[in-house]
Amino acid sequence: MEFGRLKKRLHDEKKDLEGQLYQLWDEHTKQSLREATGELSAYDQHPADLASELMERDTDFALKEQKRILLAEVEDALARMEAGTYGICEQCGQVIPEDRLEAYPTARNCVGCEERSESEEQERIRPVEEEVIPFHDFSYWETEID
Ligand SMILES: [Zn+2]
Repeated sequence: MEFGRLKKRLHDEKKDLEGQLYQLWDEHTKQSLREATGELSAYDQHPADLASELMERDTDFALKEQKRILLAEVEDALARMEAGTYGICEQCGQVIPEDRLEAYPTARNCVGCEERSESEEQERIRPVEEEVIPFHDFSYWETEID
């Protein structure tokens, strides 16, 4: 099977995620610098401001973490393409149907194995963690790149 188009999509996604991560990282750096110079010292802030500030940082962190995980998945998919194992289910060794790869280019498993491991995971992971790492929506990839 030839994955040229999927590979391009994964490459684009990788670049995109790297850019977003860089931006998030950059904002944190700027913020830390401000704090280091004392401009944002905790003393001149109301507790409510501090709380919302902390909440914002938590959201940022979750977002960054989510993007980092996605990036790792994309990089892994590209590595599997290089290794020639892309598009083969890691659980049962069956070829993953192309329409599944089109819809979900970082898929490691066929639908059957994915559903099985998802239900196993749901028993293991608590709901609060599912909120931090929501399922990524790849639907914007529907647009043709050609
Ligand atoms: Zn399978």
